[in-house]
Amino acid sequence: MPTASVPLNLVDVTLEYPDGEGTIKALDRVNLTVQAGQMVSLVGPSGSGKSSLLAVAATLVRPTRGQVLIDGTDAIGLGDRERTALRREAIGIIFQQPNLLPSLTAAEQLIIGDHLRGRSAKAAEAEAAKMLDVVGLASSAGKRPHQLSGGQRQRVNIARALMGRPKVLLVDEPTAALDHERSDSIVRLLRRVTDEFGVGTVMVTHDTEFVPLTDAVATMRDGRLAAAVPTAA
Ligand code: ADP
Ligand code: MG
Repeated sequence: MPTASVPLNLVDVTLEYPDGEGTIKALDRVNLTVQAGQMVSLVGPSGSGKSSLLAVAATLVRPTRGQVLIDGTDAIGLGDRERTALRREAIGIIFQQPNLLPSLTAAEQLIIGDHLRGRSAKAAEAEAAKMLDVVGLASSAGKRPHQLSGGQRQRVNIARALMGRPKVLLVDEPTAALDHERSDSIVRLLRRVTDEFGVGTVMVTHDTEFVPLTDAVATMRDGRLAAAVPTAA
C-alpha cells in the first residue's frame, strides 16, 4: 500500500544541462517524497535548481539519472504518450504567470483543456463550476482575464490545475506578481486545496513568511536538496 499512495517521490535525481564544453548540474542527486495532503515549501537562492526540480517532477524534463515516481508510477519508463496522459491525470502545474487566454471566460479557461481527459462537455462544465467555487470565484465564472484582478487570475489558474483531480500540485513562485495581502490569500488557498483534495504539493517560494503555512521546508543550494524539515506550526 504505502508506495502506491505516495503522490511524488524523486529518487537520486540528477539533471545536467550542456554548458559550453562541459555540463552544469541543475539537480545533484535530489531525493524528495511528498505525501498526500502534505505541502512542502521549496526555498533557495536564484539559480539553485528549484524550477528544474519542478520541471522534472512535472515530467516535462527528463532527468539525466534517477527516478521520478508519480502516484507510484515510474514516469521515466513511460513512452511520450503515456507520460503526457499521466501528467494530465495526476499532476497540476501552477506557475507565476497564470497564462490565461485573453478571449475566454474563467469557466472556459478550465473547460478548454479538459476535453483531452475524455469527459463529456456537460461533466466538464459541472467540474469547472465546482472548481471555481472552491477557489472563491463562483460569481466570476463569466468574466474574462482583463475583468479579473491579479489575485483572481491566479485563482483561475489554481482552479484549472485542479480540473484533473491531480495527486500532485507543483507551484512555482505563485505570489511573485502579487501584493502581500493577495499573496497571503493565495498561499492559504493552496494550503486549503492541499488538505481538501489530499494532494501532495510542492511550492517554490522566496517568501519565507509563508513557510509556516506549509508542513515542511526543503532548501536547495547548487542543485543539492537538503532534507525537508518540518515547520514549527
Ligand atoms: P531556480 O529556479 O532555483 O532559480 P533553475 O532551476 O531555474 O533555478 O536553474 C538551475 C540551474 O540550471 C541554473 O544554473 C540555470 O542557469 C540552469 N538552467 C536552467 N534551465 C536551463 C536550461 N534550459 N538550459 C541550460 N541551463 C539551464
Ligand atoms: Mg525558478
